[in-house]
Amino acid sequence: MRMNEACLKMLLDPTLWLWATAFTVVSIGGGALIGWYKGRMTVGIIWAAVLGPLGWIIVAFFKSNLAACPECSKGNRPGARTCRHCAVDLEQATARSARSRLRGAKNDSR
Ligand SMILES: [Zn+2]
Repeated sequence: MRMNEACLKMLLDPTLWLWATAFTVVSIGGGALIGWYKGRMTVGIIWAAVLGPLGWIIVAFFKSNLAACPECSKGNRPGARTCRHCAVDLEQATARSARSRLRGAKNDSR
């Protein structure tokens, strides 16, 4: 009985809850940051909320969801209109590189 009271007292200690809350907030923040970098922020938040810093490692190993820029081949958010690295128009650049790929394939078959 005394053991249970001690247990209960410890569980109701506000400092424990403060630390647990701070730990969770920091974990989710880190997961969101790593997920954002990979273009998968929601997934990062969920994994970090469930597993804490272990979730960071899992999210860090996820494949990036970012589309590669045809000009500089760096990652951009899906649906982005201009590259955030070299500021090229992504729609035009994609069409241009598709045309040059087609031309290249035609030249190869000749
Ligand atoms: Zn670019």
